[in-house]
Amino acid sequence: SAQAPAAGQVVAVSAPIITATSVKVNVSIPEAAARAAATGADGVGLLRIEHLILGLNKTPGWYITNNREEEFVKELHDGIKIVLDAFPGKPVWVRTLDAPTDEFRNMAGGENEPHEHNPMLGWRGIRRDLQSPDQFRLQIEAFKRLWKEGYENLGVMFPMVSHPDQFIVGKEMMRACGVDVENVTLGIMIEIPASALMIEDFIRAGIKFASFGTNDLIQYTLAIDRNNENVADMYNPKHPAVLTLIHSAIQVCRAYNVECSICGQAGSDPKMATWLVEHGITSISANIDAIPKIREAVAKTEKRIILEAARTKDAE
Ligand code: PEP
Ligand code: MG
Repeated sequence: SAQAPAAGQVVAVSAPIITATSVKVNVSIPEAAARAAATGADGVGLLRIEHLILGLNKTPGWYITNNREEEFVKELHDGIKIVLDAFPGKPVWVRTLDAPTDEFRNMAGGENEPHEHNPMLGWRGIRRDLQSPDQFRLQIEAFKRLWKEGYENLGVMFPMVSHPDQFIVGKEMMRACGVDVENVTLGIMIEIPASALMIEDFIRAGIKFASFGTNDLIQYTLAIDRNNENVADMYNPKHPAVLTLIHSAIQVCRAYNVECSICGQAGSDPKMATWLVEHGITSISANIDAIPKIREAVAKTEKRIILEAARTKDAE
């Protein structure tokens, strides 16, 4: 039975806001899992694993060269498990490795990273994993163990895909590693315009969800280096071309009943969240600190949409 609060005890009086659109949270380090879960988020729309690996100070290639693969798999498994345990029964989408070559350079094994003139357009995301099956397999092994342990809430998403064949090949590699690929949740990030334009083909290839990585989608649509301050004022999340790509991909996902989300920084902006809900997105994943204001913006927008629909009906 409920106990009366002690004198001076702070009592939460506001009930959690429930929205039809899922409001999820982005997590970059397992240490943030508890704080992320405390926001009341409906799941994790992006779990990055790069920081976890950077924390090991050794590249996946180093573990392979030194016959210490099991250690790497365990680290990855244990790190992801912390986040899964913080979100029981809620979806947690882990992104496969997405490290540009310059980011791993200073770790043990980093000397083997190729030198690239433009790492942002280079060997990163799914491209790298498909060309380094040994490194991809270590990640798959960690996911496989978690699925075997009963974490059905684990979803896996491939970053930087530009063609459905990449999803198909990635999925086949998972199958070859013993993953029951038809019964786990696999999806993609839409961060290259090509994948927004070809979303229907990705759906036919079997993706269960898609998530806009607007940080990259903006840079590749507008040809604006996201880290170049000379052009930073032209880096515009609301550029009509970016919005057109997002809008059209959402409509296709809706037509096929495929979950469509966002995990780029734009999703942490309440105005953008409002626009996304108006255009039919099914979930928004934002930074930990942005969750309350995004939840509020989503709730307000949904209410307005319902009221407007009711008024239109009344007027008929
Ligand atoms: C994105 O591109 O929007 C994204 C979420 O990925 P990252 O910022 O890690 O490139
Ligand atoms: Mg990205």
